Amino acid sequence: DLTERRRAEEALKLRDRAIEASDGSIILVDMREPAQPIEYVNPAFTRVTGYGSDEAIGKNQSILSNQSMPRAFYQSLWKRISHGEPWGGRLVNRRKDGSKYLAELSISPVVNGAGEVLNYLGMHRDITEVQRLEYQVRNQKALIESVVDAAPVVIALLDIDDRVVLDNHAYKMLQADLGMAEPAPMLMTAVRASLELDSGRGRRTSGYLFLDREVRLDPPGGKQPRWFSCSGSRVREDAGTAEAFLA
Ligand code: FAD
Repeated sequence: DLTERRRAEEALKLRDRAIEASDGSIILVDMREPAQPIEYVNPAFTRVTGYGSDEAIGKNQSILSNQSMPRAFYQSLWKRISHGEPWGGRLVNRRKDGSKYLAELSISPVVNGAGEVLNYLGMHRDITEVQRLEYQVRNQKALIESVVDAAPVVIALLDIDDRVVLDNHAYKMLQADLGMAEPAPMLMTAVRASLELDSGRGRRTSGYLFLDREVRLDPPGGKQPRWFSCSGSRVREDAGTAEAFLA
């Protein structure tokens, strides 16, 4: 009846408005046409790419191709979506003004009731800035590693289970010298025993968990015992969980 039909029309209109309002760039490709043209783009697509809907509709999505991605990349994309499966990945796109950006793209086939693919839905966002931050983190890590490596003292970073997660060149030399896989956890055990002996004497130094602790290590194979002066501090690491964000 009329109210039912009006309700269904309203629901469709609402869905259209939601797609229009989406902050993610959305395109629909018409697979019923041999040229497989773009059938719809939302305003976010125009904001990201510079192409107005009148310029994009009727064209092929390859207007965004930067012509620099390997052919095999697009081939595997098409192979996947031709099998009716969704595809997701990163690629370099080109805007209308010729500038390039890194896009995170996902493509999903849209099927009718009979299971035929009528459209492909493409959603992408500009992640150039995310990529820049990722590279910055990577560079920072490389920088820290080279500084730690150059230090003329043995440095090892242990996780909460006493596993070595970062070490330096001097540590590797010590491993070879002692003929031990990981001397750091054994040194930590010796340091803990020494701290326990001292507990209550207030020898802890602010900033350090322990400072200039002299401990003995007995290498395997009946080698001479070795003495080390050890200092350690805690490194706080933020967990990358959703709960950590709230905290
Ligand atoms: P093309 O010659 O068009 O494609 C390279 C290779 O891909 C071809 O050799 C062929 O093996 C394969 N291929 C291309 N078209 C088809 C097809 N219809 N059927 C089977 N295999 C095919 N590309 C982007 O660069 N950026 C985007 O943001 C982007 N969004 C897309 C969104 C959707 C919904 C879809 C369906 C595709 C999207 N593409 C996008 C892929 C795009 O269609 C092109 O394949 C790509 O841009 C490469 O274009 P080209 O002119 O360099 O090479």
